[in-house]
Amino acid sequence: MVQAYRFALDPNVGEQAALRSHCGAARAAYNWAVSWVTATWWQRRAEQSYGIGDEQLTPWRPTSLPALRKAFNEVKHTDPRFAGWWADNSKEAYNTGLANAAAAFDNYTKSKQGVRAGRRVGRPRRKSKRGARLSCRFTTGAIRVEPDRRHVTLPRLGTIRTHENTRKLQRRLAAGTARILSATVSLARGRWFVSFQVEVIRDARNPARQPDTVVGVDLGVKHLAVLADNTGTIRYVPNPGHYDNALARLRRLSRRVSRRRGPDRRAGRTASRRWLKADAERNRVHHRVANLRTDALHKLTTKIRAEYATVVVEDLNVAGMLANRRLARKVADAAFGQIRRQIEYKGEWAGGVTVKADRWYPSSKTCSNCGAVKTKLPLHVRVFNCEQCPLVMDRDANAARNLAALAAAVKAGTGVAGDQDAQASNPRGADRQTRATTRPRKLPGGRAGGATPHQRTEARDPRRTEAATLQ
Ligand SMILES: [Zn+2]
Repeated sequence: MVQAYRFALDPNVGEQAALRSHCGAARAAYNWAVSWVTATWWQRRAEQSYGIGDEQLTPWRPTSLPALRKAFNEVKHTDPRFAGWWADNSKEAYNTGLANAAAAFDNYTKSKQGVRAGRRVGRPRRKSKRGARLSCRFTTGAIRVEPDRRHVTLPRLGTIRTHENTRKLQRRLAAGTARILSATVSLARGRWFVSFQVEVIRDARNPARQPDTVVGVDLGVKHLAVLADNTGTIRYVPNPGHYDNALARLRRLSRRVSRRRGPDRRAGRTASRRWLKADAERNRVHHRVANLRTDALHKLTTKIRAEYATVVVEDLNVAGMLANRRLARKVADAAFGQIRRQIEYKGEWAGGVTVKADRWYPSSKTCSNCGAVKTKLPLHVRVFNCEQCPLVMDRDANAARNLAALAAAVKAGTGVAGDQDAQASNPRGADRQTRATTRPRKLPGGRAGGATPHQRTEARDPRRTEAATLQ
């Protein structure tokens, strides 16, 4: 099983510079590859406009990694963009950029041919020094986790102290139950990380404490999760609301940032020291919120998986909910998608079962007692009051109970999860649980794509941090 182990690093000043240099080299190689390939596209288009025949056009340039590597290795000695300094970094840095470019072209082609799932992928574009994520991947050479459990060794970068103990990985390596496939260094949340991609031999873990119990997990904004198992126990996990708690502080800090002299590229103005200081302080709050969220989610999902062997979760349309400006901030803060992902992979580790309820399964609108389905249940109605039977129950608890019952149906082979046309009064599923948006949807890939102002700020902030630390 391939798994990642991620550790925060504590590089010294020289090491930080080397890390930046490697990530910058990866970006330079990526940009070179993108320009090298797309140059022929424009050339061909221009030639066609002059009426040159198809046979005489400039030939396409290849986009595969071996081809890009071959071309780059010829060019790097002579091209003034690389000639002076390429030898300063590990060859893996350039390989990172070229591999990413090859993957980007591959995704673009497949998306264009319609063989790639998901959103349409655009033409690969050059990465900007400001926006690009700093990251570099090492696949060969001296990649080690030192036995002292406080240092890692990477090609060319040498031995770097880790911020946290590497015991979890080191003891596996020492015991021979893990093999490092690659290491990626990256700057995230204002800190350098190394992530090892590791092939792990896992023996069957302790089974869940309640192997025969099924739990339904209803994710929500009011409560982060409501757990209902088939024994009738209902537990509420409160929403920690880290972002909301920090909101007042963030507003104050953001106000301070905007009152100081920030960078202005058009005017060629650099940020003042006071602006940088205020910006860094605001970003620290953002990082802390993100860290608290990650921690809480891992604890929640680990706990659920340790307890129950079978977990039923909803396949929520998170992208759709994020397009709703009233829900977006809270939904993004609760990280529903992340919870579901963690429940799934942690379940695989423990040999458990994850049942995904269909996206249109009306878990909130169905009575968990008699199975009657309501046609409408607005979000603000917090209590489920059945018209067919005397059931009166908290809305989310009712939904969680329905999810738990779904697993029993799957086990008994009475149907596929979510395929309950028998009881659903609206088989078309048009009456959604969560209305994605009331406005007409813009085309995906558009300028805003329905993003809310909150999202835009959130999405921009981490990058701004990097740019600020980059200076
Ligand atoms: Zn009922």
